Amino acid sequence: MYILKVLVEHPIARLDMTFDYLSNHYVEPGCRVKIRFGHQHIVGYVDDIEESMKTKEQLEKESGFTYHFIQDVIDEKPLLNQELEELSHFLSKQTLSPRMACLQCMLPPQLKPASQKHTGIKYERYVHFIQDIPLKTAKQQAALEYIKKHDDLSLNNYPFSLTILNNIEKQGAIEIIKKEVYRDPYLHDEIIEKEYPLTPQQQRVVHDILNAYDHYETFLLHGVTGSGKTEVYLHLSRFVIAHQKTVLMLVPEIALTPMMVQAFKRRFGKEVAILHSKLSEGERYDEYRRIVAKDVKIVVGARSAVFAPLENIGLIIIDEEHDASYKQESPPRYLTSQIARKRGQYHHCPVILGSATPSLESYSRALKGIYHLCELPERINQNELPEIELIDMVEEMKHRRYGPLCQKMEEAIEDRLAKKEQVMLLLNKRGYSTFLKCQDCQSVIKCPHCDVTLTYHKESQSLKCHYCHYSQEATMICPQCHGHHMKMIGTGTQKIEEYIQSRFLNARIIRYDVDSTSRKGVHEKLLEQFENQEADILLGTQMIAKGLHFENVTFVGVINADISLNIPDFRANERTFQLLEQVSGRSGRGKKKGSVMIQTYNPDHFVLQCVQHHDYHKFYQEEMKLRQLAHYPPYCYLVSILIQGKNENEVAQSARDIKVYLQKQLNHVAILGPAPSMIYKLNDDYRQRLTLKIVETKNLYPVLERMNDFYKKRKVNVICDFHPYTMI
Ligand code: ADP
Ligand code: ZN
Repeated sequence: MYILKVLVEHPIARLDMTFDYLSNHYVEPGCRVKIRFGHQHIVGYVDDIEESMKTKEQLEKESGFTYHFIQDVIDEKPLLNQELEELSHFLSKQTLSPRMACLQCMLPPQLKPASQKHTGIKYERYVHFIQDIPLKTAKQQAALEYIKKHDDLSLNNYPFSLTILNNIEKQGAIEIIKKEVYRDPYLHDEIIEKEYPLTPQQQRVVHDILNAYDHYETFLLHGVTGSGKTEVYLHLSRFVIAHQKTVLMLVPEIALTPMMVQAFKRRFGKEVAILHSKLSEGERYDEYRRIVAKDVKIVVGARSAVFAPLENIGLIIIDEEHDASYKQESPPRYLTSQIARKRGQYHHCPVILGSATPSLESYSRALKGIYHLCELPERINQNELPEIELIDMVEEMKHRRYGPLCQKMEEAIEDRLAKKEQVMLLLNKRGYSTFLKCQDCQSVIKCPHCDVTLTYHKESQSLKCHYCHYSQEATMICPQCHGHHMKMIGTGTQKIEEYIQSRFLNARIIRYDVDSTSRKGVHEKLLEQFENQEADILLGTQMIAKGLHFENVTFVGVINADISLNIPDFRANERTFQLLEQVSGRSGRGKKKGSVMIQTYNPDHFVLQCVQHHDYHKFYQEEMKLRQLAHYPPYCYLVSILIQGKNENEVAQSARDIKVYLQKQLNHVAILGPAPSMIYKLNDDYRQRLTLKIVETKNLYPVLERMNDFYKKRKVNVICDFHPYTMI
């Protein structure tokens, strides 16, 4: 008899507890089993197994519990290999998340430990020729002749009916076989592209990295926009797969980086698997199975692809390493680079963090020698970086020019349109206008569930909450005083689109933001249109800043650079620098020289000055001074503790209690707060935050674990976030 320790996901079960079930047969840990849990039938994950010489009755007598037998074993093999099994433990420890949450996050939907779904393997029937024998009818004979010539095709490809094929099979001349097939979402781009010879700078980088080919080392590849980082990744990947190893290539969000996906697909075709959330569940599962079956050598994917079940990894790349999407914002709240480095250590392979604007954390590690720094300071073919002009909007106001675009920017757009060149415009705010304000009583319309204003969306005539997805019909009557003087304040991409269209009547404009790209496949379609020059202006939010390469774009305009500068977050300067530098980098990537205009109310701010001169190093130095003064990362680590719940007083009291507890336990740690979180109410929860500034991590984990345990059974919810990226 065996006793199985089973993890379950169930609201009434403490998440990290295992439950004992019996089995007459050995079940490998890591497989899923069907069990009865209370009155329900659910799926659990076998965490461990013990052999016992006792009978069910003896066990029950000793413990006083009732034991149940498992009902069925679902998997033939463990879901995770040994490396990933260990990684799930590491992940759970590092993020203080339940094992079950970690397993759920590491596996595709069909294999999630608590999933009830069927595996959804797709089959197709194939026809296989066996022998030439005389058949009953002439029609069958003709069909057999055809099959002999066109053997092993899928059933649908034969020009005769299923009845005929079945009859031939019965007589023993052919065989109809069921085969597993994969749904391949990228079948259409199978063109294998030529490789560029590397420039001497690229060669140097490739050479440096290949020196570390058989041991773990983290490289920071700092290359300006258009310096050919992608080509470096492709060359290294070619080398790695030629040596029978595999490559893990991570990108911020696949939907936003179709060009990187294409580059790999075109170079390596079927050897590449793509993992991301916009694939259907079936497609994702198939890609996963292709990886497990070792049918692919390269995996390109967004954050969660860092858990791809590749074996024998020879290279891990994180492109645009500074990007906030590499931090998962739901449990387990992990940082992708941390997981990637862990896997690099396991596989003894190099890990590359690439960016034109590295995070301060990474760059400071590189300067300290913890990472190996490689720089590509020039664009390919000595193409110049675009010239950047800062437009002082205060001056514009002084001259009573209140339009959303200054005159110079309008002239520049006019000029590019006349030359049949293309323009990209950035406004980092979606919707039509930011909020509605009553001119009579001055109140603004807010979300009933969150402490934020509702954004007006003109297309749907609605007011939407960008945090909880609440939406209501747009009203022009004040809900407070019933006055009729509601005014739209602030400008979003929808309103700018209207404005630009009115200024440039013949311009073909594509708006590219969360609202215009929500349907599957629309991202790619819009970008393709723009690439084929079926549009003149691409107007978008920060989504247009990343990884796009359009040779005909010679002008980039930033409509309001100050939006992200004014966010109360210690990374506001860094984010603004990254965004502006990235979006500027979209201009002049082809033969024609590009230029950039940035509208701002703070033209003298050092961030804007550094952007203007493409001076990452200066920015790094200045910003590091500020971080040191205020004692923020990279001078310490942050842990954010969010305390939330429906009862405002309980939340506030718990926050104070936690602070007292932490101060006692961690006397070497500076604790900020409790303070109301930036969005005090979200989804009907009140939110208080404590922020820990940590230099050494002694004691930290056990102390936080005890706090978590205490609050697991309470109405107030406590969430620890290590290396937090958003603290709204
Ligand atoms: P980054 O990723 O650094 O912004 P890319 O990899 O997109 O830059 O390269 C910019 C452009 O230069 C692309 O069109 C790419 O095809 C081209 N390119 C890259 N390497 C070379 C090379 N060695 N020779 C010629 N063209 C190259
Ligand atoms: Zn809301």
